Amino acid sequence: MSETVRISIDAKEYATEKGRTILEAARDNGVYIPTLCYFDGIAPTGTCRVCTVNVNGRPMAACTTPVAEGMTIENDTPELNEMRKTIIELLFVEGNHFCPSCEKSGTCDLQALAYRFKLMAPRFEYEFSQRDLDATPPKLIIERNRCILCKRCVKAIFADDGKALFAVSNRGNRAMINIDDKLAKTMSDELAEKAMNICPVGAIIKKGKGFSTPIGKRKYDTKPIGIENQVSS
Ligand code: SF4
Repeated sequence: MSETVRISIDAKEYATEKGRTILEAARDNGVYIPTLCYFDGIAPTGTCRVCTVNVNGRPMAACTTPVAEGMTIENDTPELNEMRKTIIELLFVEGNHFCPSCEKSGTCDLQALAYRFKLMAPRFEYEFSQRDLDATPPKLIIERNRCILCKRCVKAIFADDGKALFAVSNRGNRAMINIDDKLAKTMSDELAEKAMNICPVGAIIKKGKGFSTPIGKRKYDTKPIGIENQVSS
């Protein structure tokens, strides 16, 4: 039988199971913690830090931190939400994101979080990074201008023999996502669709499909991200 653990989030008490992460415990209890790199079913990496909460006064990634008895968690505070907004802003200025022409507009987690955190115009200068687009895979376009290097595709998209199709090469601001040329040629439509859907932004776009769901009727057009627990600030 699982062991029950009691925690508090924003001064409200919740019961959860030992072994759950803070993010899982929050979701189980209907509390929204914003995330970007996290995806259900993929081992969390804690890379984007959007889910940062204060645990007993210390900032920790909610997606990778397991719950413990008596843990005191702060989530929906002006300071944490400002930090999250800053992360989103930095991602916008670091890449080249042109939302109106993107197939993922309306289903993009980055765009949806920007709306949630009321990002109007970034406070930082655009970098206009020089990044290229790879249209050589038969089923996909890889648009590195939009890639936020969350590594969801790396951890979730595999060929039949278990080899990963995607990988990150280089480090720091030269890091970029790549696809294995040979494996890309074996990719089925289903796997290409899965890769596109797993990408939180419009960095993986399946060829031969465009705007089949009209703007205005997409996922976040009808239900803004995290609507169940609006940001207080
Ligand atoms: S291509 Fe998409 S899923 Fe892959 S690392 Fe970039 S943003 Fe993440």
